[in-house]
Amino acid sequence: MRPAILFPLFRPLAGLPGLGAKLARLAERLAGPHAVDLLWHLPSGLIDRRFAPKIAEAPGGRIATLTVRVDGHAPPAAPRHPYKVRCTDETGVLELVYFHARGEWIQRQLPQGRTVVVSGRVEWFHDTLQMTHPDAVVPVEERAGIETVEPVYPMTAGLPAKTLRKAIRTVLDDLPDLAEWQDAAWLARQRWPAWRDAVRSAHTPTEEADLTPSAPARRRLAYDELLANQLALALVRLQQRRLSGRAVAGDGRLRARVAAALPFALTGAQQRALAEIDADMAADRRMLRLLQGDVGSGKTVVALMAMLNAVEAGHQAALMAPTEILARQHAETLAPLCWAAGVEIAVLTGREKGRARSRVLERAASGELPLVVGTHALFQEEVAFRDLALAVIDEQHRFGVHQRLQLSGKGRAVDVLVMTATPIPRTLTLTAYGDMEVSRLTEKPPGRQPVQTVTVALDRLEEVAAGIRRKVGEGARVYWVCPLVDESEQLDLAAATERHAYLRALFGDRVGLVHGKMKGTDKDAVMAAFAEGRLDVLVATTVIEVGVNVPEATVMVVEHAERFGLAQLHQLRGRVGRGDKPSTCLLLFDPHLTETARRRLKTLRETEDGFVIAEEDLRLRGAGELLGTRQSGLPEFRLADLAEHDDLLAAARDDARLIVERDADLQSPRGQALRTLLYLFERDAAARTLRSG
Ligand code: ADP
Ligand code: MG
Repeated sequence: MRPAILFPLFRPLAGLPGLGAKLARLAERLAGPHAVDLLWHLPSGLIDRRFAPKIAEAPGGRIATLTVRVDGHAPPAAPRHPYKVRCTDETGVLELVYFHARGEWIQRQLPQGRTVVVSGRVEWFHDTLQMTHPDAVVPVEERAGIETVEPVYPMTAGLPAKTLRKAIRTVLDDLPDLAEWQDAAWLARQRWPAWRDAVRSAHTPTEEADLTPSAPARRRLAYDELLANQLALALVRLQQRRLSGRAVAGDGRLRARVAAALPFALTGAQQRALAEIDADMAADRRMLRLLQGDVGSGKTVVALMAMLNAVEAGHQAALMAPTEILARQHAETLAPLCWAAGVEIAVLTGREKGRARSRVLERAASGELPLVVGTHALFQEEVAFRDLALAVIDEQHRFGVHQRLQLSGKGRAVDVLVMTATPIPRTLTLTAYGDMEVSRLTEKPPGRQPVQTVTVALDRLEEVAAGIRRKVGEGARVYWVCPLVDESEQLDLAAATERHAYLRALFGDRVGLVHGKMKGTDKDAVMAAFAEGRLDVLVATTVIEVGVNVPEATVMVVEHAERFGLAQLHQLRGRVGRGDKPSTCLLLFDPHLTETARRRLKTLRETEDGFVIAEEDLRLRGAGELLGTRQSGLPEFRLADLAEHDDLLAAARDDARLIVERDADLQSPRGQALRTLLYLFERDAAARTLRSG
């Protein structure tokens, strides 16, 4: 349970001073649902109001704080004109300018003859200095309160900056005093402040350097976040290890039958991965292994062999996919091979209902059914296995650690194999999986044709369509992807629907459409028509990204390629080039490209190596562009910037490993403090694996 000392940080935003229901909703969208999320919403800039020149010395365009005497008021001469207040000091004239303001209010704030302090952006207008709508006007006695540095936060429309600042200030004002969770020697060596000071100082920058990732307060907070992440992973892993494993070693008879039925031989990389998996399964610890390989590298067959190993030894195995389509596709791919081996396989997703569903459930529970493929429906309570020995999770980064735990809780000593298609750079592997063992399929199956990648400006759409039409005439099968951007699903859907209509008008009715809002069965029907060649062109939002396999498809068109991340484009491109015919990938882009988008497209033109692309992706994604991470489901960091703090990530991994070795239950004083750290960063699932203490 979350420690009581953190309760104030987990109160909802609504109710903080200035945040009524409506503004709280905006702040939530900006930062997150709890007070603590405001703490993680760090300033991106600052306004220095300490700059206090005389009028004559004030440079135009800058924020300045001026001490002036109010000389006279000039109410608007006509309705649309501004209200002006003339002020002076011994060096010149400053005019305060107000649009749509109430004169009465201005007169009260700025009585004639009074000396006041005003702060705001100034501009020169002929030889008069002007300040339009001062940010602050106070009596001279309060001058010290104004001449400060104000943090500037990333904003959202409709939420006044002042309101957000005030809410953050409120949370900062009563920060709990948390026991130190960092190692004292390490803190001293890094010269980092204590947590509370670090949070406060990150929110009160006094110079630009304080805003950079290398500022000590920011590094400390980044390290806290990374340590929470690494410790959570280490604990989960420890828990898996603790639950004793068992040796699972089949005799190879089913696998031999599948090998004989396969139209190809396994690649060296596949064989190596299988040997590693076999060794893990045969050991009496639990396996927790990541099978990493580019799209099309042949992970599925490796997974099947591993599952058959469990079946040969008399146990059950399950494969879980992130989407319904993928689960069905896996089942379809595996069915003929399982059939050749004489092993039954069933599908279980949210869509199986009634009798069919209860049959699968009964037979999984009785142990009659050796293999089940499904979606997260496999997690549900009602699903029980008599003797589950291996869970394969085809992750595509969509499941979290928590879910991994759930499935492996479905059996006694379940071995876990996680498959992932994006060749994640080493750093990201660490944040997503901790120290998991990794098998990599680095070699593609033989006979693959390279994919020719071409970038074309969107205004040449007609030419592209004509080219595609020629290819379809020659028998090509084409994916046409219209991107889905979260903010306006409706609009995107409209774009895909419109493109579908456009292509239909050109090519006739052998053009299909598939998108996320469709019913599962309808989606399947369209996919099947495309796979069987009854459709030549498949217009899709990103649903096909996750792994459909239609080896006959040789053309991939991606509209607005600039909106996708590198990894996603690489995934999409991986949908073609799977058969023995040469393939093409056309990336259509909006000519108003950002420099980063241009680099992304260039990278794709130049290489097909997933690992190179992944590294480049990490380099290109600055802190501002971490959107790609959100979409991929990799953990998101609020405070750590993986491009800037990779040294800290490595340190956090070592630190976490040591902590778990010495104080696995987090019972020592530091251990207790670390529990708080886990809750602070909402790693509750990992904290719950601990014995209470
Ligand atoms: P992944 O899941 O890694 O994206 P798949 O397992 O779907 O890749 O394999 C892609 C395609 O390659 C499938 O059609 C599969 O049958 C084929 N394949 C797998 N292994 C080999 C191999 N060793 N030689 C030739 N083709 C292979
Ligand atoms: Mg696959």
